[in-house]
Amino acid sequence: MSPPPFSTIAGAFAADASGRELRVRGWVQRSRSSGGILFVLLRDRTGTVQVTAKRDTLGDAAFDAAEHVQVEGVVEVDGTVAADPRAPGGRELRARSVRVVDAGLPFPIFQEQTEEFRLDKRHLVIRSEEHVATFRIKADLLRALRDFLDREEVLEVTPPVLTGNPAEGGAEAFAIDYFGRPGYLSQTAQLYLEAMLSPHERVYALTPSFRAEKSRTPRHLTEYQHLEVELAWTDLGELMSFIERMLVDAAHAVARKRPAELKLLGRSPDELERLSAPFPRLSYAAAVDRLAAAGFPVSFGSDLGTAEERALTLESAEFLFVTRYPKERKAFYMLETPGDPRTVEATDLLGPEGYGEIVGASCRETDLDRLTRRLAETGADPAEYDWYLDLRRHGNVPHAGFGLGVERLLRWMLRREHIRETTPFPRTPSRHTP
Ligand code: ATP
Ligand code: MG
Repeated sequence: MSPPPFSTIAGAFAADASGRELRVRGWVQRSRSSGGILFVLLRDRTGTVQVTAKRDTLGDAAFDAAEHVQVEGVVEVDGTVAADPRAPGGRELRARSVRVVDAGLPFPIFQEQTEEFRLDKRHLVIRSEEHVATFRIKADLLRALRDFLDREEVLEVTPPVLTGNPAEGGAEAFAIDYFGRPGYLSQTAQLYLEAMLSPHERVYALTPSFRAEKSRTPRHLTEYQHLEVELAWTDLGELMSFIERMLVDAAHAVARKRPAELKLLGRSPDELERLSAPFPRLSYAAAVDRLAAAGFPVSFGSDLGTAEERALTLESAEFLFVTRYPKERKAFYMLETPGDPRTVEATDLLGPEGYGEIVGASCRETDLDRLTRRLAETGADPAEYDWYLDLRRHGNVPHAGFGLGVERLLRWMLRREHIRETTPFPRTPSRHTP
């Protein structure tokens, strides 16, 4: 007779599981033995269960082997589910047999190690409860964003990540040798999304973007997941309304899908459920006045850096749209504000509680001459962007779009101190391994 199929560990907690024979397999989270009884906390993707194994039942050889399994070693267990108020979750699995799949070497990760060591051992550290919760939430966040875009009839497209055009300015582009010609890792897919706009009208891409940011801040990675959306026939007001609906929808979806994981990370799902639209709007000019009144050395034209962005929402539980930035602070493709040539139709969405920019958005310049002039002013060679300028020569319509840093959104959602906690293998100026 072939052995029964494996159950998940969650199966041990099913309403009718008590008294049943069960076969599970998983990783040893911790174990101890005393007086001929071995207690193992066993983990699989569905949860953990306490396994108890007796020397008398297993026999000496099997018991000794099971006792020598290290943290993160792997075993298969056949046993009977029993109610036990002392066990985590009130159930345990009383083993009839324990088969060692991999005894493992001593696991090198402990709580008190330095951050540098833990980053060196990131491939093992990501088995922690916090990381497991984080990356399950991230998966559902991505799903929620995609579901929203799908309902809004925005088409997912696949722009390239290797390019000859560093669209956000050469200084922060990673340059590569592309068979002897200059190439770059994409900083944004926007130009390609604009090209795909004419046939599809509403498009998005979720791709890695790369920024050679030397600044070490808790919100910059050199590689991040970039969700970019481009919408035809859309002005700044409509774009902001789209963005806030998307974020409210995503926050609610995550709160409903992952309450236990959120609580484990110290975020109450109710707080996310309470997020609602519309988000307040503040013009850049008014933001500068507010900051100047608070003692910041800023005037119209100043860059709003980390400290300024932080101050604007530090005391607030709400997102904030800062609108109509000075032209020279923003990218060449942004639309000049009608009636105000000093500013562009752009907005940065700042996260609540000082989390800073999470979305950058704008209407795109449709006037070919102005676009060409602004491009030349950045020091770029318009000839290299001629394909992009073609888009203004053939079927040019008003359009707008935005880029959202998925890890920035998650950092706020999970209230993480550092953005690296929102990605399994963070890329920063000092680290691109493991
Ligand atoms: P910042 O001023 O914070 O560097 P940015 O103005 O360079 O941001 P955009 O070029 O507008 O950002 O990019 C769109 C979005 O991509 C940002 O709103 C942010 O969410 C995200 N983003 C940009 N740079 C990074 C980065 N280095 N790491 C993680 N996310 C980023
Ligand atoms: Mg930047």
